[in-house]
Amino acid sequence: MKEDEFKQKLTQEEYEVLRNRGTEAPFSGKFLDEKRAGTYMCKACGNPLFPSTAKLDSSKGPAGLVGWPSFDQALSGAVELRTDDSHGMHRTEVVCARCGSHLGHLFDDEHASTGKHYCMNSVCLELRSEPGQE
Ligand SMILES: [Zn+2]
Repeated sequence: MKEDEFKQKLTQEEYEVLRNRGTEAPFSGKFLDEKRAGTYMCKACGNPLFPSTAKLDSSKGPAGLVGWPSFDQALSGAVELRTDDSHGMHRTEVVCARCGSHLGHLFDDEHASTGKHYCMNSVCLELRSEPGQE
């Protein structure tokens, strides 16, 4: 997809996060307390990223989980990891493996079953509910 197409398809806020690697304000995201079953897809290209079963409960997690929707596992091959040394921090950036859009960051998390959690921006995601869940 060309940059112009992303611009047309996405809202300004979505574009800012997905294509300019922004971060939505904590506790602002619509999927923070989302509990429906389904698959979270990339907002920019529709690539399936996370199953709802991997979503962590943001209301009772440790500090790192609070404020953004988080997952302990991505679907196989759905995301790519990149080193991110911006903002004076050493972090692992998570991008969509299909379109390269920024999704969030991956953090070590001793409380997660995988030892890691994916801290995602709600604006980068779209939930495809399972039938009967809508
Ligand atoms: Zn994508």
